Amino acid sequence: MTTPCLVIDVDKIEHNTRTIVELCNSNGIEVTGVTKVTCGHPQVAKAMLRGGVSALADSRLEYIQRLINAGIDTKLKFLRLPALSSVDEVVESAALSLNSELAVLEALSSAAQRCGKVHDVVLMVDLGDLREGIWPDDLIPVVREAIKLPGIHIKGLGTNLACFAGVMPDADNMKRLVELAVEVEQCFNLPMALISAVNSSGLDLIASGRMPGRVNHARIGEAILLGRETTHRKPWPDTYQDAFVLHAEVLELKKKPSVPLGDRCEDAFGTRPEFQQRGEIVRALLNVGREDINVEGLAPQDPRVIILGASSGYLVVDVTAVAASIRVGDTLSFLMNYAALLAAMTSGYVKKHACRGGYTGGGAISDVVS
Ligand SMILES: *Cc1c(COP(=O)(O)O)cnc(C)c1O
Repeated sequence: MTTPCLVIDVDKIEHNTRTIVELCNSNGIEVTGVTKVTCGHPQVAKAMLRGGVSALADSRLEYIQRLINAGIDTKLKFLRLPALSSVDEVVESAALSLNSELAVLEALSSAAQRCGKVHDVVLMVDLGDLREGIWPDDLIPVVREAIKLPGIHIKGLGTNLACFAGVMPDADNMKRLVELAVEVEQCFNLPMALISAVNSSGLDLIASGRMPGRVNHARIGEAILLGRETTHRKPWPDTYQDAFVLHAEVLELKKKPSVPLGDRCEDAFGTRPEFQQRGEIVRALLNVGREDINVEGLAPQDPRVIILGASSGYLVVDVTAVAASIRVGDTLSFLMNYAALLAAMTSGYVKKHACRGGYTGGGAISDVVS
């Protein structure tokens, strides 16, 4: 097996999807599976579809194209605001996009007309998280112009919270979104078919039964992939947190001091790390580093292993407690948070293996599906 590698258990992803979809559907909410943290990985997308999502979304056109090339036959939505320079590709490859700028809507309209399509759009409203979205006061004037544009169809309203500023979705801001949708419907006699209110941060609100009834759409990535809601990063009931496991190989294994010798300057990344005096410890150097992962977001699967730090190409761990059972050439495994998973999926140096039914380390991976 080539290391480092990221083993993706697609059965766990399918199971997690089913859990989240059942929760949402029983509250009248349809789920679009978000593949962006996996760079549009086709096997992940297929697992989400088996688990019951009604559509898929990604934030990069390259990944939408990857899904199309893999023969994924479902509605693909473009999650990131389209660049003015990319409207032709957006209309070509995505059935729907999220939007907040009239100039882009005009360009999408022209692009759609050029290829004889009608492109669905969801207008994003900023309810306080201060990332994308039309400010609520400006919504009616924007819709007034947008409904004149041929080739695009305003399918509904959306909002995105808990991403940039960590604003929680709650009954108040969700009610505000529904009120805005009703206002648009009344002003323009235009039905808002989709009220796309939440991402993985909305699960608690949905489960508590306090989500306003008209909210009917969620865009879910992390809760399906890592089994966590995202307001407190609580593991979600009946989901797996270990669908993705990173395996890295021991390159060097030596007993050395726990504190550096000599006068100290900045490290390779311009910081001055602190070291705890723990006497001599057994240190392992592994073949992943900051180029491939976000070190702070890694957690060893064996709790006796302690991460000491990393440079671009090495992860340094304290393996004193397990020294008797490991050797050079063995692999150690890690779970990842969202940031670390994003980095590992994006790294060209980490091999990705989708498999069914898990993988326990060492030897051959059984039943690799890609
Ligand atoms: C990434 C993203 C999502 C999915 O968020 P998760 O927290 O992974 O569920 C939903 N909507 C938008 C607009 C996004 O950019």
